[in-house]
Order: sequence, then structure tokens, then C-alpha cells
Amino acid sequence: MRDTFRREINYLRVSVTDRCNLRCVYCMPPEGVKFLPHDEVLRTEEIEAVIRAGTRVGIKKIRLTGGEPLVRKGIRNLVRRVANIPGIDDITMTTNGILLPLHAAALKEAGLKRVNISLDTLKNERYREITRVGELAAAWKGIQTALDVGLHPVKLNTVVVRGINDDEVEALARLTLNRALHIRFIEIMPIGDSNSWSKGRFVPAGEIMEKISRRIGRLIPAKTVRGNGPAKYYRFEGAAGTVGFITAMSDHFCESCNRLRLTSSGGLRPCLYDSREIDMRTPLRRGAEEKELVDLIRDAIDMKPDRHHMHDGWVDSKRVMSQIGG
Ligand code: SAM
Ligand code: SF4
Repeated sequence: MRDTFRREINYLRVSVTDRCNLRCVYCMPPEGVKFLPHDEVLRTEEIEAVIRAGTRVGIKKIRLTGGEPLVRKGIRNLVRRVANIPGIDDITMTTNGILLPLHAAALKEAGLKRVNISLDTLKNERYREITRVGELAAAWKGIQTALDVGLHPVKLNTVVVRGINDDEVEALARLTLNRALHIRFIEIMPIGDSNSWSKGRFVPAGEIMEKISRRIGRLIPAKTVRGNGPAKYYRFEGAAGTVGFITAMSDHFCESCNRLRLTSSGGLRPCLYDSREIDMRTPLRRGAEEKELVDLIRDAIDMKPDRHHMHDGWVDSKRVMSQIGG
């Protein structure tokens, strides 16, 4: 279905949990956010019902995210059930990768097509500083497992933060020379906890491009790597992988936005940065018929704003990134 700005909306990002096994400095406070009580989180069959209703208005692609989707109990079953919904032709996941060695093969078998794995640094101590509790070796094992089981293309998400990891963009970009990895440098967004933390730490994608092409070689525009997102991709001559840029701040891509978001507590959000939500949980729990759910999804699509207004500051006091689903 098209929204009021004639954009085709066919992609739903689902936050399957607000919990996480890491505490990244730009995402969560050290003690974690106050997690939702279990009964406030959508159940598997409720997520399935929303997605099924979504297919009636043209939702075809699903990304499971969070929080950390792999800490949700029954994640394999959820993947299998979503993959079996008629009309869903793409199901992917964004994960920190730590638990992938445990789950990757089973997830692939359940129907997961591919993964995006977050990796901000190649240095052990720094990984610990950024994630507060994580081990780089574990994340790297997750990346290797994703490659081994064939969750291709394997994409890496790197949030670039001045004074934290901006000195590593060259080393990270070099990963693509010999490996089929697709690294995407992401501009930090002033969301939730990172809002005050990130002041003065923003690095525009143009600066990263300039630096890596000067140090490694010319960046040749590459065909879009399979996916549904807004990254612009490039390749170094002869490289096995690609380098992408997600410029939510310096050059927003709202005019081609194709997505809705479902929060872990069942709020349907027209835009990451818009605090308005349509409550799906209440109708689901009183046994609403599919038609009612479809109408609510149509309402959310109609509510989509023309663009985000992140430069004006974060105005949502209720939620942070891990709850909405990054
Ligand atoms: N836990 C999973 C992970 O880390 O990949 C999935 C959820 S996480 C919220 C999704 C993505 O959002 C990650 O790649 C993370 O780096 C990114 N992210 C979190 N906070 C951000 C911020 N303030 N600005 C830009 N990206 C952010
Ligand atoms: Fe967890 Fe992902 Fe947020 Fe890091 S970015 S704290 S891994 S949800």
C-alpha cells in the first residue's frame, strides 16, 4: 500500500524484545533500560497475527530486531512461523552476533535469509568499552558462523562515533577487501540515551568516505547489496565485499522510506523518530478480527510523516532505540 506521499510501504521491522545481553554506550544506560514485564511484550502468535494482517496491505519483508533478538526465548520458532506466512518473501535479523554460534544454523533452517551484525571496533578493550560487557572474540565468532552457514550477504553495522572509533574506519573498511562482508558505516542518531551522550561526536559519512578512499583506494559505486534499506554501496577495486553508508542525519532518505516498525510492546510506529504509535496489543488481546488489525495498519501507514526531524532533538521520553527496534 502507498502512503500519503506515494511511498510503497512493504517492510516491517519488528522489535521482538527490549532486552539485550550488551549495553552499548550509545543505545542503553549502564543498568539497562527498565525492561518491560513479560506480559507486556507481544507473544509469538500476536506478532504473527500482526504480520499476517500486514501482508493484506502489501507487507512482504520482515526484519527481526530489538533489543537483542537472540535473547528472546523461542526465537527459532518465531522465525519459522513468520517465514511460513504466505506473502512474506524476505525475513532477516539485526543482531550483535554474540549468540549466533548457538543459533545460526537452526535459524537458517527455519527460514532466516540473512543477518546484519553490529561491530563497531576490531580492538578487544574497545569492544568492551563500547558494549560495556561484550567480548570481541564472541562477536567475531558470530560473524564467522553467519558466513559459514550461508546467511548471505552478511552485513556489518558500524556506528561511527568521534573520539571513540573514528580512527578505525580504515581497518574496518579493509575487512571487505578479502572477505564477502558488507560493512555499513552508520551516522549516530540522537535517539534516547545517546541524545545527550552523542553531542559533538557526530561524524558525517562524507568524512568517512573521503578518509577511506584516500587511504585504501577509489570507491566505485556498487549495485545495491540485497536488502531493503537505505545504504548506498561502494566497492574497492577487486574487493570481495562492499562498503555502505547510512546517512540518516547528513542526507536523509525519507523520500524512499518503505517501512513501519512494531515495538516490543505492540506499538505500530509510522517512523522511528515519531513518537506516535498505534496500539496493536489491546485489540489483539481482546480477540480482534483480522480486518480490524488491517485497518489499524492502514492508519499507521496513513500517519507516516514526510520526513524525520531528528535535527530538532529527541522528543520521545517514553522509549529508547532498543524498545522501538533499531
Ligand atoms: N541488538 C541488535 C544489534 O545491536 O544489532 C539489534 C538492535 S540495535 C538497536 C540495531 C542497530 O541500531 C545496531 O546496529 C546499533 O548499532 C544501532 N544503533 C543503536 N543506537 C543507535 C544510535 N543512537 N544511532 C545510530 N545507530 C544506533
Ligand atoms: Fe544491545 Fe544492540 Fe543496543 Fe547494543 S545496540 S545495547 S547490542 S540493542
